Amino acid sequence: MTREFMKEEMLRSVERNSPLLTAMSDDIFDHPEQGYNELYACKALTDFLKSRGFEVQIGYAGLETAFRAVWKNGAGGPNIGLLCEYDALPMGHGCAHHMQGPACVGAALAVRDAVRDVPYVLEVVGTPAEEIGGGGKSAMLERGAFVHHDVVLMMHGADRCTVDEKSIAYSEFLVEYEGIASHAAIAPEKGRNALDAVMLASNGLAYLRGRVADDVRMNMIVEEGGSVVNVVPDRASARIELRSYSRPYLDTVIERAKKIFEGAAMMTETTCEILKTGEMHNKIPVRALNDLLMENARAAGAKGISPPREKTGSTDFASVMHLIPGACIRVAFVDRGVPAHSREFLEKGKSPDAHEALLTAARILATTCADLLTNPENLRKIKEEFLEEKRKNGS
Ligand SMILES: [Zn+2]
Ligand SMILES: [Zn+2]
Repeated sequence: MTREFMKEEMLRSVERNSPLLTAMSDDIFDHPEQGYNELYACKALTDFLKSRGFEVQIGYAGLETAFRAVWKNGAGGPNIGLLCEYDALPMGHGCAHHMQGPACVGAALAVRDAVRDVPYVLEVVGTPAEEIGGGGKSAMLERGAFVHHDVVLMMHGADRCTVDEKSIAYSEFLVEYEGIASHAAIAPEKGRNALDAVMLASNGLAYLRGRVADDVRMNMIVEEGGSVVNVVPDRASARIELRSYSRPYLDTVIERAKKIFEGAAMMTETTCEILKTGEMHNKIPVRALNDLLMENARAAGAKGISPPREKTGSTDFASVMHLIPGACIRVAFVDRGVPAHSREFLEKGKSPDAHEALLTAARILATTCADLLTNPENLRKIKEEFLEEKRKNGS
């Protein structure tokens, strides 16, 4: 079967399944669940995949609402992971994660229906809690998920059709200082002020900010700083986030920041404890994979085709893409300039544009899989570029 014919068959598969896929998306939208509580979405997606012959495991990599659904064609061959999120925000599905599962399901069915001549493994992987607590994918990574895939792909609803070339690595710390409480007027000399330590740490970071690379971001909030002004605070804490586009560079900044936190304790004769409370790595860019996705996006008639975004945040998917070649195709369903986590995202969640976007994403993901599975040269180029970029990144 030629690849072109295979792709046409994929489009017919998406078309055939479109009423089911859009209904599934609306259903998940109507049952918003926040991180680690996504029982309804997890069941809706896995019930359907099970009914279509996928081997389904619910509760995966230590997370109750994570899943994987495996389709094997023949023995061996490359393994592609289609990752989907389905957690909501307190406002509801304001980040359009309800579209991701149905898009991946549609793509997986299309691959299953059309790619029959070569051996491969295709997995739809459900990844909970993207929005909160440092990300479900990070927790899954710690338990050994994802590393057996050759390539991982995702989709995300957006205001344009694009891919990312980078994402910023992120580390978060809670620094707790402990001193000695004392009457602030009668016996101030007996106190050891934990809040002073937080203030000194804040100043130290301000100076460090001028001695690091331009892409570094440092933010701090005071979480605890005493409760009454006539007592020397014996406990104070601050939460700090540090970011850079390079994980190895960020790690050097973290070591310098730790000296500041400890130095502040030394100056105030308090003790400090530094707890890591979150971590995401930077994405290793693979332009060959991005190009393949965008080529298939053009072929699928995706709206608002645009160059890669200049400013990008941190995501738990990037931690996966730090280890394995991966990419996320962003597909337009809101007007250009409308950000995620907005009223507009929510209001358009079940619109015809949202339906069209998730079907377009299914087409793009499926046809990209066709290119990966039937042309070994694509996979070779992608892996080579990934290793080269990883080396350049110093990872
Ligand atoms: Zn979001
Ligand atoms: Zn999102």
